[in-house]
Amino acid sequence: MNSSEKRLITFIAWSGTILGAISMIGYIVVGYWLDALYGLISLFFFTSILLLIHYRRISFNKASLLFSAFGTVIVTLGFITSASVADGLIYMIIPTIIIALLRPFREAIVWLSVYYSVFLGINLLNIASHTISFNVFVQLFSIHFVLFLIISYYRDEEQKLRLQLETFNGQLKKEVSIDALTGAYNRRAFRTILDKAIEQRDTHGEPFVLAIIDIDYFKRVNDNYGHQKGDDVLKAIGQHLQSHIRQSDALIRYGGEEFVICFSGINLEQANVSMEKIRHSIETLQLLEEDTITVSGGLSALRSDDIVSSLMRRADKALYAAKASGRNAIFVEEAEQ
Ligand code: GH3
Ligand code: MG
Ligand code: MG
Repeated sequence: MNSSEKRLITFIAWSGTILGAISMIGYIVVGYWLDALYGLISLFFFTSILLLIHYRRISFNKASLLFSAFGTVIVTLGFITSASVADGLIYMIIPTIIIALLRPFREAIVWLSVYYSVFLGINLLNIASHTISFNVFVQLFSIHFVLFLIISYYRDEEQKLRLQLETFNGQLKKEVSIDALTGAYNRRAFRTILDKAIEQRDTHGEPFVLAIIDIDYFKRVNDNYGHQKGDDVLKAIGQHLQSHIRQSDALIRYGGEEFVICFSGINLEQANVSMEKIRHSIETLQLLEEDTITVSGGLSALRSDDIVSSLMRRADKALYAAKASGRNAIFVEEAEQ
């Protein structure tokens, strides 16, 4: 059940409660005791459903089934016992609308077939205090059936639109957090990943390592081969990094030619081993005709008192040290004092 169907069910339950109360009071005032009793029963039924939904004792699906059943039974009873034929006929439309709005199409057809068969049977067997002619029954059924088809059609259309919207929203959400050139996460997503890592540390003590990777002498790539070639290299490095990390890790394009890898569930030494492999594999890629692309990296592990900025600062410091050492190197943060 989607949220709009849930709202509709709650709306119907409230409407039923209010209508039950109004009709009970109204019929008491004019002295129609039997009709007042139906009002009371409706009031009791819909209030119970509201409470059951509120305290999560029944699902929305079950509530919608109960509506269909209750509507069918109460209207049939009303028709059998009613003093005037018109009363019974008018109310007959209520279950039709509820079933068309809330139940799946095929199931609704079965429901309504049973409903109208019972109604026809009551007429043929002369059970009710009044009967209606077959002619009137056919007219009534035709109108109800057309109404049912119209409601079902619009419901179907609404569901199709909703599905499209959900798919579109999903794509949009993804695009908002992805860097267009490299396909890695962007900085917006990075923040969420870090917040989650800190939460995981606090709840499960999960280890987390951050690696900042910066391409060495990237300015020269642009200068010597052009900006377009520079973009191609960035894209290739992004894809290469992505294919060398696990599903549980995350690759982020942190800035121009800087990437971050978030390693979850492993310690500093293990992350360092992975990073060394990655560094070496990049060195062997032949991305440019005459030059070799290399990267430098700095690693820091999330500590118990870390906030985002302190973790980043240590990785940045390690990266700076790697650059200062002559580049094409991975450095880990200084040991904790
Ligand atoms: P090093 O990091 O080894 O110190 O040297 P570097 O040359 O890489 O230094 P720096 O970080 O200062 O330069 C980064 C360059 O990356 C500057 C900029 O022209 C280039 N760059 C940043 N973003 C992009 C991009 O999206 N596409 C291309 N083609 N170049 C970019
Ligand atoms: Mg840089
Ligand atoms: Mg650089």
